[in-house]
Amino acid sequence: MKKVVFFTDENKIGNALDNFNLRGFANKKIPFKLHMGEKDNKYFPKKETVKKVVMALKERKIKPFLFDTTVSYQGIRHTKKGYYELIEIHGFSKKNIGCDVIIDDKGSPVKIEDRDYEVVEHLYKSSHIFAFSHVKGHIATGFGGAIKNFGMGGVTKETKRKMHHGSRPVFQKDKCTYCGVCAEVCPFNAITINENTWNQNMNKCFGCGICIENCKNQGLIHKDADIQFVLACAAKACLQDKNVIYFNDVNRIARGCDCDPEAGPIICPDIGYLVSDDPVAIDKASLDLIYDVKPGIFEKINKVSPFKQIKFSEEIGLGSSSYQLIEL
Ligand code: SF4
Ligand code: SF4
Repeated sequence: MKKVVFFTDENKIGNALDNFNLRGFANKKIPFKLHMGEKDNKYFPKKETVKKVVMALKERKIKPFLFDTTVSYQGIRHTKKGYYELIEIHGFSKKNIGCDVIIDDKGSPVKIEDRDYEVVEHLYKSSHIFAFSHVKGHIATGFGGAIKNFGMGGVTKETKRKMHHGSRPVFQKDKCTYCGVCAEVCPFNAITINENTWNQNMNKCFGCGICIENCKNQGLIHKDADIQFVLACAAKACLQDKNVIYFNDVNRIARGCDCDPEAGPIICPDIGYLVSDDPVAIDKASLDLIYDVKPGIFEKINKVSPFKQIKFSEEIGLGSSSYQLIEL
């Protein structure tokens, strides 16, 4: 059966929400999962839009609190204290938005496809969740939407680190032709090739897997698994058996993620807003709408297909890529 995805503008967000059964959400404190941007990033969600969505939920007797997790890399969001400072800088304070803001980094283990993921407590313990996902490009996964909001944003720092480390390359000497493609595509210059030697600087490697994706000779394999596969699994760890409404902000679509201080340029005109109860359907619809205007854009700029996360998510039962788009 096709999943319904509503396509709307900022003035009809409430109308879109009213198409879902919100009875179970009413009178509950629910996490409003939101990536609140990185220092110096220019494209993260607008506080005015977040406030509008929060107000629409409150008008329906839902009690949201903005929620996110700390990150594994060094930076202001590495600690809860730093993230709370950034929240003030980016204007997501309780005073501005009208609801509490909570940052969490303690987790509980959930096993998916034989791997352990630590889901942060506020998601783990919630039966109902609201997801606000800004859609944009991503250096490792091609693009980021609802699946990525949870697959990376809903787990602990330790799980984030493990996911990245597991998608680092392992060199296969007997297959390598020393063509140099992996070194060319590595965004962090972590690979060097001289004559018949292949070297990797582990300190520079981010575990994006782009080198593996672009080697046509099976000269590189993942240490554990493709990052888009573990991303789908981690999202399922956060979301399985939960009641979730997903809201995708398909505007300010930059090359890179909201965690990248140099995420620009904008690579597609603004599209609008999508609402659904299926994370795979809403991400597939977001990608299709972007590709209608800019075919193949994420493969071109990030050298990886964003559709892999859709395929993996569907295969492990996170949701359906088959959808019906209804314009409001
Ligand atoms: S892209 Fe593959 S074949 Fe080419 S140098 Fe890298 S590992 Fe070797
Ligand atoms: S995984 Fe990413 S950062 Fe690491 S070597 Fe490959 S392309 Fe470079």
